[in-house]
Amino acid sequence: MYKNLILKSGRDRSILNRHPWVFSGAIKTMPSAENGDIVAVRDNQQTLLGYGYFSPQSQITCRMFEFTSQEMDFSAAPYWHQKIEKAYQLRKSLVTGPHTNAYRLLHAEGDFLPGIIADIYTDIAVVQLLIKGTEKVLLHLMSGLQALGIKHIYLKNKHSPGFREEVVTPNGFLTGEEAGLHVVIQENGLQFSIDIEKGQKTGFFIDQRDNRDLLRKYTAGKRVLNAFSYTGGFSVYALAGRATLVHSVDISKDATSICDANVALNFGPAAAHQSITADCFDYLRHTTEAYDVMVLDPPAFAKNAKAVPNAARGYKDLNMTAFKKIRPGGILFTFSCSQNIDKDLFRKIVFSAAADAGRNVRILHQLTQPVDHPVNIFHPEGEYLKGLVLHVE
Ligand code: SAH
Repeated sequence: MYKNLILKSGRDRSILNRHPWVFSGAIKTMPSAENGDIVAVRDNQQTLLGYGYFSPQSQITCRMFEFTSQEMDFSAAPYWHQKIEKAYQLRKSLVTGPHTNAYRLLHAEGDFLPGIIADIYTDIAVVQLLIKGTEKVLLHLMSGLQALGIKHIYLKNKHSPGFREEVVTPNGFLTGEEAGLHVVIQENGLQFSIDIEKGQKTGFFIDQRDNRDLLRKYTAGKRVLNAFSYTGGFSVYALAGRATLVHSVDISKDATSICDANVALNFGPAAAHQSITADCFDYLRHTTEAYDVMVLDPPAFAKNAKAVPNAARGYKDLNMTAFKKIRPGGILFTFSCSQNIDKDLFRKIVFSAAADAGRNVRILHQLTQPVDHPVNIFHPEGEYLKGLVLHVE
């Protein structure tokens, strides 16, 4: 029923190990299929290994969503609904509750659904389709989300210069019922206003939820810098932890305005908080403030493998400046969300920054992404967020 993609002899190993990506160099015979079609992946002996979305222009020519030796048909809804239901069960027990109603429901390869992201904000799902084939299962996806009681589904295109997957869906609400484009969510009992349409990613950096909660424990009586603050996630938690002063720095005026609004939403207009619209590299270099706690959560500096050396210099420079500026006994929360910089490399970069700054530094916590961003063990590329909490003497 599905066209066959045949692998070269000896090039089936990673697929047998359930790695979901078929690279162009491993293919002996391309299927006569269109971009986005589901294709059957077979080894050189024609043995069926599974199914994936065909993407002929991409270096990752097929992204597999099912590993099986059985012939299967994916045209009906139940297959997709079951995957969504399983994803929901994992979150239901561990993430959502009376204090948290924003979470990632579908995390692409991490939920065996390559190319599909769905973040839930109260009863709104913000969906991103990242590969062509996922457009074709959109109706099943929608009915699966609705079956969970999600009322509104907003489809959000990914706009980024390097993104070339030819997904052509429009931005907007898909269901008859439209919700507002702004929604207030709760995370660990704190409130955040989210701009679904204009916000980065799906509107909020849900992946820092646990790490923000940890920050709360370190801020009582402290002066805190939240660098790359975006909508103020870490700032609000720092204040909830009774920080005496919090500065939020972001280069985007829109971000600092939303950050101010989020602080006011939780603590009123008189909170011990100030937003600064500035470049964090400049700000850190020139500030004369003495901070006890610093958070560095920059955007991904390495968007691809080629960018790694420059990105590494960026991370090193940033961390070294923080090490030089932080007060003795200070705590530094430092992150990287570059997929191409793994946790060992990140740790080496921070090590060399600490060495150059000449401070004694100890690791208190090693952080990563939360359970609603699970990492498929066969797809280590899915582990993108890493962080270190450091004690700086
Ligand atoms: N910590 C945030 C997420 C940070 S996203 C949270 O928990 O929600 C990265 C942010 O860095 C974006 O808001 C972006 O506007 C900002 N940014 C990018 N480059 C910057 C720079 N050079 N200086 C300051 N902010 C920058």
